[in-house]
Amino acid sequence: MNTVAAVLEAARRKLPASEARLLLGHVLDQSAAWLLAHGEQVLDEDDLLAFASLVARRAGGEPVAYLVGRREFFGRDFEVSPAVLIPRPETELLVDIALANVGAGETARILDLGTGSGCIAVTLALELPQAQVTAIDASAIALAVARRNADRYSARLRFVQSDWFDALGEESFDLIVANPPYIAAADPHLAAGDLRHEPVTALASGTDGLDALRRIIAGAPAHLAPGGQLWLEHGYDQAPAVQELLFAAGLTEVKQHSDLAGIIRVSGGRLPLEFALTARGKAP
Ligand code: GLN
Repeated sequence: MNTVAAVLEAARRKLPASEARLLLGHVLDQSAAWLLAHGEQVLDEDDLLAFASLVARRAGGEPVAYLVGRREFFGRDFEVSPAVLIPRPETELLVDIALANVGAGETARILDLGTGSGCIAVTLALELPQAQVTAIDASAIALAVARRNADRYSARLRFVQSDWFDALGEESFDLIVANPPYIAAADPHLAAGDLRHEPVTALASGTDGLDALRRIIAGAPAHLAPGGQLWLEHGYDQAPAVQELLFAAGLTEVKQHSDLAGIIRVSGGRLPLEFALTARGKAP
């Protein structure tokens, strides 16, 4: 009999049990808890075929998040598609740091560069209801995904299609965050595992992986309000280079934070008040 328990058991020959449960839960539109409680339930032919197809695609390497069209981030479900990077748990660190630096009642102007699924920007807009959040991405398709994620949670934010700061004019922000592409273009990881299926423009950035980080850090002072902060996610071995770039851009209070694996993953700094004034030509 093709019961829930039997098909999950059979799928375990090809996939980890947790992935098989996610895929079957998606087909049946039920939770993992429901599956456990309904092991005797018999699947109809359509569901059986749909599940078999997902198991085969997963076994062929497609990411589970793309197969089910969603991934959890910061306790909320986000729609994802192959047009956007799949949200990573380590990126929650960037959100934690942003939240620790902006008061809940503050009307901070926040910019998320390269928003992708919108997971960072939508989370910040929901956690900081007083903030004015702007999310930019170069990809119109990614922005459509981000917009749907905002709508789904009735998050209020502004979306702008832009190549990093290009479309923002002279606008400035109290907080700029980004999880930009930071993998070296020739890194063999790009051709392996789930990364093969993700948008390369969201992952790879020049020969040393630092092209986007360089551009964002160099452009940030012109778009930070006096005293404003910039926080960036970067690669496991890029902390020294990013620290140097932050100093070279004139930022102070440069700080670096480790993720749960103990890897320095997020770096940032603040635009000093004097620097902001001179850079804008408002001081002698
Ligand atoms: N942390 C991701 C990975 O290594 C990369 C994300 C990114 O480039 N922003 O899989």
